[in-house]
Amino acid sequence: MSDARKPIAVIAFGGNALLRPQDHGTQEEQFTLAWKATRWLAEIIHRGYELVIVHGNGPQVGNIMIQVEEAITKIPPQTLDVCVAQTEGSIGYMLQNQLRNRLLEEQIAKPVVTVLTEVEVSREDPAFENPSKPVGPYFTAYRANQLMQEQGWLMVEDAGRGWRKVVPSPVPKRILDVEVVKHLVASGAVVIACGGGGIPVYQDVGGYFRGVEAVIDKDYSASLLAQELCADLFIILTQVPQVAENYGRPNQRWLDRLTVSKAKEMLEAHQFPPGSMGPKIRAAVQFVEKTGKEVLITDAEHLKDALARKAGTFLVPDGKED
Ligand code: ADP
Ligand code: MG
Repeated sequence: MSDARKPIAVIAFGGNALLRPQDHGTQEEQFTLAWKATRWLAEIIHRGYELVIVHGNGPQVGNIMIQVEEAITKIPPQTLDVCVAQTEGSIGYMLQNQLRNRLLEEQIAKPVVTVLTEVEVSREDPAFENPSKPVGPYFTAYRANQLMQEQGWLMVEDAGRGWRKVVPSPVPKRILDVEVVKHLVASGAVVIACGGGGIPVYQDVGGYFRGVEAVIDKDYSASLLAQELCADLFIILTQVPQVAENYGRPNQRWLDRLTVSKAKEMLEAHQFPPGSMGPKIRAAVQFVEKTGKEVLITDAEHLKDALARKAGTFLVPDGKED
């Protein structure tokens, strides 16, 4: 192919990059963390990529659910799809605002735009039979009982810390209006999309799209978006500098490169837990298999060096191990 477009990088990172458990969670702190994030986001632009950003929303959507719960006698509650939409707006705004300022400071003329993204899931997805993703605040057993009876919530006792709502986490099937994102990227804009994994919607029998009480894993949505955009690099930013074999054990070994076959073997061998590294590796494998391009997994501190191939773990197609 002879298209002369600039390479595209899609980056995914967790919502706790912008709202950490050790903080008070004030708005000021969140803007400061967003400002810090723009430093490493700008590194990707400096490397010559068009940039697409996918952020998580775990702590933020949890806070909105607390607000809903606390105000329940005064303001009618919103469903989870609406709460996710709210976080796409609020987190999108903070990132967009601070990235705009960063680019202004660095005299890079690029618009920054947040796309409120609906992501289609299937009603037949097995996740709807087995809601397993804990979301939102912890409740007492007493309040949990009320919520289960009055609201029909499914709730589980979470590691002695209280009761939490569990919701389905279906896989993303299609990003609605992804063509718009493509146009925006082609026009040179930095795009923030699929925030929080996207607003989950399904198509009803009449063909209409309806929001659904679920959350989509942002790593899977980001992978799908990166595939749709034919991205040249998919970056998964997390809390560890590299992926490890035998993580947390005495024989732990950090990996510079990991082939798709080896990654699949390690998935089979339960090297990557379902609630943390598992979805990242699966999302990464899907991207590499579909595009033949590479995935970089690292943390914020090592991103710059990793972009220069001096840090991080690269998930690569088979036969490209060195
Ligand atoms: P995020 O908020 O970025 O989605 P997660 O906590 O869900 O982060 O997943 C990343 C975590 O996965 C790491 O911080 C690490 O503790 C854990 N982890 C589990 N297995 C591995 C492994 N094999 N190699 C590296 N990290 C691993
Ligand atoms: Mg995670």
